[in-house]
Amino acid sequence: MGRTYLVVRCPHCGNVMVVLASKRFTCRFCGKESSVAGSQVLFTTNDARRAREVAANIKERARERG
Ligand SMILES: [Zn+2]
Repeated sequence: MGRTYLVVRCPHCGNVMVVLASKRFTCRFCGKESSVAGSQVLFTTNDARRAREVAANIKERARERG
């Protein structure tokens, strides 16, 4: 059974990142710890590469919006 990867949005700074499925994660951007339950989960997959692609696409779109 593979690992599950989540694309989550940090509730503190809005940074989108890939984390392994767990109850809590630490944002690499602002350094704050958040619970997955209290965060926006944008995508769930067992494929680490796919998770990174989705996170990159979301960030790309956010840049285009300005
Ligand atoms: Zn953050």
